[in-house]
Amino acid sequence: MRLVRHAPLARCMYCLAEGVPRTEEHLIPHALGGRLTLRDAVCEPCRRITGRREQATLDGEFVVPRTLLALKRRRARAQGPSRLPLVTIEGEHTPSAPTPAMFPRGFSLPTFEPAALLTNAGRRTPPRIEFVDCHLNLGTPARQARAIAPPLADPHAYAHSIAKWAYALAVAERGLACCDTQAMRDLMLGRRDDPFAFVGTPSPRAGASREWLHHHSVHERGPWLAVTLALFASAGMTPYEVVIGGLG
Ligand SMILES: [Zn+2]
Repeated sequence: MRLVRHAPLARCMYCLAEGVPRTEEHLIPHALGGRLTLRDAVCEPCRRITGRREQATLDGEFVVPRTLLALKRRRARAQGPSRLPLVTIEGEHTPSAPTPAMFPRGFSLPTFEPAALLTNAGRRTPPRIEFVDCHLNLGTPARQARAIAPPLADPHAYAHSIAKWAYALAVAERGLACCDTQAMRDLMLGRRDDPFAFVGTPSPRAGASREWLHHHSVHERGPWLAVTLALFASAGMTPYEVVIGGLG
């Protein structure tokens, strides 16, 4: 992922409070291979509120890709593998705890319809969900097993997490004055619960560069500031597009 300019934030990026202790915010979680952080970006109450759904998503839909990344890191440090999560392998009926060598390299991540704000759909229910087959190569031959796509346990939590990462990327590149962020910050702090107004899969679907694990772009889309977020691009995942706010 290319480096972004880290605008120094004088306030919490979610509640805009000044003069409160703040901690760093990862642009994309470390567990997913994110390395970039915004310093002094989030106050403690906001960190707790915004982190809850993110953690559920990391423990749910992203459990297989994040375990693969952890295995890769452990191998680089030449340490033995630690306990792996239970996964259901394609062709099996019950979850099992595979060894590192047998851990599935294949997994699926969901795509949606375009963000409702971009289509004037005004939708509050989850849009049609499809899954994209992804594959992360760990550099060693392994059984070509796929994990069964987890049923999207909480589509709103998943979309909320995608929106959080996209918002952090927009703030890192363009600062808190990048656009009217009120609605996005209300979403982050649980004052509204319509993440699919903001988050979607663009149509027609964009191809992802397979050069990077993740990549993104901050761009203008009509009256909106938007972020294209290609998570696990190198694994073949379709990019998301997230509306950050109105450019006014
Ligand atoms: Zn705050």
